[in-house]
Amino acid sequence: GEYNQKIDYVFKVVLIGDSAVGKTQLLARFAKNQFSVDSKATIGVEFQTKTLIIDNKTVKAQIWDTAGQERYRAVTSAYYRGAVGAMLVFDMTKRQSFDNMAKWLEELRGHADKNIVVMLIGNKCDLGTLRAVPTEDAEEFAQRENLFFMETSALESTNVETAFLTILSNIYRLI
Ligand code: GDP
Ligand code: MG
Repeated sequence: GEYNQKIDYVFKVVLIGDSAVGKTQLLARFAKNQFSVDSKATIGVEFQTKTLIIDNKTVKAQIWDTAGQERYRAVTSAYYRGAVGAMLVFDMTKRQSFDNMAKWLEELRGHADKNIVVMLIGNKCDLGTLRAVPTEDAEEFAQRENLFFMETSALESTNVETAFLTILSNIYRLI
């Protein structure tokens, strides 16, 4: 359990991106190893935490999820406050959700600390036959904007842990 554990660091990481790209399910997979097809039940949860060990330090990851505000581009500055990491999530079967990444990045850069570690996530890689965003397009965008990049599936649990561990260990490296 997490009781009696000395926490060395708390890292706030925010999830952003269009509605329905899989942000809530990525978080459910990482924090609880769960996935639900109908994720409306989790609406209203502000953040979830998971404690892990990085370099012999106890790091509490506090991952923030939107409660649907992204539909109206009404994610507030309070959401970004104190964030040391951000995951920009798109759905690789929805081109528009990738094209909107530039807007989300701009919004993030306008609100967040300039040293924030940012990772681009192409989610739903289990739906490969419906792919609408070639890996190279995402890689090019990530390289140009200086972002980490990974393709994930919250459904099949592909790369989810790796993606979170990558962003968290890079945050750790910078402190
Ligand atoms: P959010 O609005 O970004 O939080 O998206 P949700 O996490 O609520 O997911 C939106 C829809 O996509 C739901 O029907 C999920 O079951 C589905 N979904 C999420 N992640 C994946 C994935 O990796 N693969 C597939 N096939 N579906 C997913
Ligand atoms: Mg959600």
